[in-house]
Amino acid sequence: MSVYDKYETVIGLEIHIQLATDSKAFCSDSTTFGAEPNTQVSTISLGHPGTLPMLNKKQMEYAVKLGLALGSEINRESRFDRKNYFYADLPKGYQITQDNLPICIGGKIDLRVENKIRTVRIHHIHMEEDAGKSIHDVDPKNTLIDLNRAGVPLLEIVTEPDLRSGEEVEELMSNMRQLARYLEISDGNMEEGSMRCDCNISVRLKGSSEYGERCEVKNLNSMRFAKKAILFEQKRQIDLIESGGKVIQSTLNFDPVSGKTSVLREKENAHDYRYFPDPDLPPVVLSEEQISKIKSELPALPHVLLTKFKDQYQLSHYDAKLLTEEKGLALFFDQCCLQSDNYKGLANLFINKLNPFLNEEKMNLSDFPVTAEGLVAFVDLIKDGKVSSAIAYQRLFPALIESSEVEPMALAESLNLIQSADEDFLSKIVDEVIAANPDKVKAYQKGKKNLIGFFMGQVMRSSGGKA
Ligand code: ADP
Ligand code: MG
Repeated sequence: MSVYDKYETVIGLEIHIQLATDSKAFCSDSTTFGAEPNTQVSTISLGHPGTLPMLNKKQMEYAVKLGLALGSEINRESRFDRKNYFYADLPKGYQITQDNLPICIGGKIDLRVENKIRTVRIHHIHMEEDAGKSIHDVDPKNTLIDLNRAGVPLLEIVTEPDLRSGEEVEELMSNMRQLARYLEISDGNMEEGSMRCDCNISVRLKGSSEYGERCEVKNLNSMRFAKKAILFEQKRQIDLIESGGKVIQSTLNFDPVSGKTSVLREKENAHDYRYFPDPDLPPVVLSEEQISKIKSELPALPHVLLTKFKDQYQLSHYDAKLLTEEKGLALFFDQCCLQSDNYKGLANLFINKLNPFLNEEKMNLSDFPVTAEGLVAFVDLIKDGKVSSAIAYQRLFPALIESSEVEPMALAESLNLIQSADEDFLSKIVDEVIAANPDKVKAYQKGKKNLIGFFMGQVMRSSGGKA
């Protein structure tokens, strides 16, 4: 047993989700990604004297949506605070956030890792605004600042230290992204920075009931980096403890190039953010009606659909997981299943043909021309043995997309794709194939039994795919 096996890693996350609102958290500046730098910056974004921030109602609604989906308690009254610090990309000198009275408390999310279900508790969710962006790699001599992102609305989800590995962190982030997309509160795009996380990492001897001293790795915007940072940190902390040292609580930076973490600041030098209630923003008050309205508008959630697909449609976990990855596809599949109990046939079509087709064509599901009825009729043709599945996928499917108004059976007939179970038709082709390949027949008779595949291929070809 290696020394590392004696330890367990403990991880808690602070996840930032950028909300897909049209305007910023406290003013009407646009949030469009990729605009010319500093073109979406008003005096309110900059916190100029005399300007007043005003809460974007959507941010509050989105926070409640996420809270309800995660089973959090929604605070009927929450407050905004100022978190004071000086940094070039924060010209106001403070970030508007929620400190001790956040909008959502508690909740949980279930993960499935290596076939085991793990529950991760949510500590709270709060609303805040993003800072601007410092750009270090464009001008060789100067740091450039783009303030378009300053004031963009964020939700921060803080988990309890319930995670135990990089794989669990990855699964949690992927579930969170999926949930944000289902709820349509964020595109969850990590590459564009719409989702990022801080990883708090500590180690302890297995079986210990106390947590070890933790370090916080800031701003991980890719799961690959997060997993690397966790691996690096767990080894570093264990090595340190094993050699008689002590982990010092600190904030770390992860360098993707070296794969190492480095200290930004230690606890003693931690910022005193001098939080205080923002005097410009009134408390956020939610009525019961507002909350029930948001609740009644929640879409079907991914884990609910997953369970339904497994229990009601008898699909494997693997198939159900693939089919619930994205809300549109999941709901379309569900709609098809209302009209046919050929669940497995539909699942195969969605997983092996429809989804790859949409990806290849970069087509939105909303632009896909075939209706649920059409797809149900399509898989029934295969199930009833009217069209072979190979021919259906290769020839009928593209034809159906071209002529989506035509009924699949009629289309298959007009394309002469109907499979023949007619014995005379078959034996005639078989005889022909045997007659045309005397050498192969001899070889087969002498024992080269795997030639059967060759004969079957020939028969399928001669029948134009109908046999
Ligand atoms: P602070 O308010 O000082 O940032 P919190 O106690 O709120 O600290 O914790 C912030 C994050 O750190 C949470 O995600 C929490 O789960 C995590 N965390 C707390 N203690 C530990 C620990 N010993 N090891 C790993 N993560 C921890
Ligand atoms: Mg914190």
